[in-house]
Amino acid sequence: MTDSYGRKIEYLRLSVTKRCPLHCIYCKDETETNENELSASQLEKIVRAFAVCGITKVRLTGGEPLMRSDIPDIAERISKTDGIKKLVLTTNGVRLKEYAKGLQKSGVSAVNISLDTLDKEKYKALTGCDCLQNVLDGIEEAERCGISHIRINSVLIRGQNDADAENLIHLAKDRKIDVRFIELMPFSDTGENERLIIKGEEILRRFPYLKPLESQKSNIEKSVAKYYAADGFQGRIGFINPISEQFCSDCNRIRVLSDGKIRPCLGSDTEFDIRDWIDNEEKLTEAVRNAIASKPKGHSFSCGYAGFHGLDKIGG
Ligand code: SAM
Repeated sequence: MTDSYGRKIEYLRLSVTKRCPLHCIYCKDETETNENELSASQLEKIVRAFAVCGITKVRLTGGEPLMRSDIPDIAERISKTDGIKKLVLTTNGVRLKEYAKGLQKSGVSAVNISLDTLDKEKYKALTGCDCLQNVLDGIEEAERCGISHIRINSVLIRGQNDADAENLIHLAKDRKIDVRFIELMPFSDTGENERLIIKGEEILRRFPYLKPLESQKSNIEKSVAKYYAADGFQGRIGFINPISEQFCSDCNRIRVLSDGKIRPCLGSDTEFDIRDWIDNEEKLTEAVRNAIASKPKGHSFSCGYAGFHGLDKIGG
């Protein structure tokens, strides 16, 4: 369905948990408990209501979605839902080796893996966890299992891992993997993070061999990333620039948090609690319609933006 600003909303980002084994320095909240998490069957019902309202693509996210041992079951239920054409997942990769095969069998066709450095010590400093090798093994396993589209998402932070950009880009050289840089979004209200942000254009200046690719997206593939190619590289390099570019006018997304609240916009606090309607198909669908219709025209991130909560909570 289209929202009040004529945007066709087709893409649901579904957070299945707030839990995460990592404590990334830019990801604000930390939750250890699975309290209020929706069951696989509740998630399935929610997705069914969204599909009735025109959602065709679902991304499983969190928190860390692979903290849930029932993630293959969740994936299977969603991929079999009428109207859902594409199911994808975002993970930190720590448990991917264990789950890649099950996810692929359950209908997950693409996986985004968050990885900000290839240096073991830096990884530990950025995430609080000594598990870089698990992530690298997870990526290999995803390739081996035939997950057709693998992307690495990296956030660069000035003075922390900006020197890692080149090594990360090189992951796309010999493997059919896309590497995408996401601009750091504000994660505290102090405004001090502005100097930490590395904008996409700064990375492009450092690597002039990256050449822009023509936009080639069908509607369902519509992506906020701009892609570049390098001669001889199998994968592409992408840039997602929420700070230096506004993509609200093209936004086709809506989010559901792991406790059953719909967030029409990442940059707004407005939420719709649908938990009470999960077993009432008619009311649930009506609540989803209202939430889509109420999606705001846009937002702007600026440092210290008070409405921004850590993406682990909202579902990155
Ligand atoms: N646990 C999963 C993962 O690590 O990919 C999914 C959730 S995580 C919140 C999703 C993505 O949000 C990660 O790629 C992470 O780097 C990104 N992210 C979190 N906080 C961010 C911030 N302040 N600015 C930019 N990206 C952020």
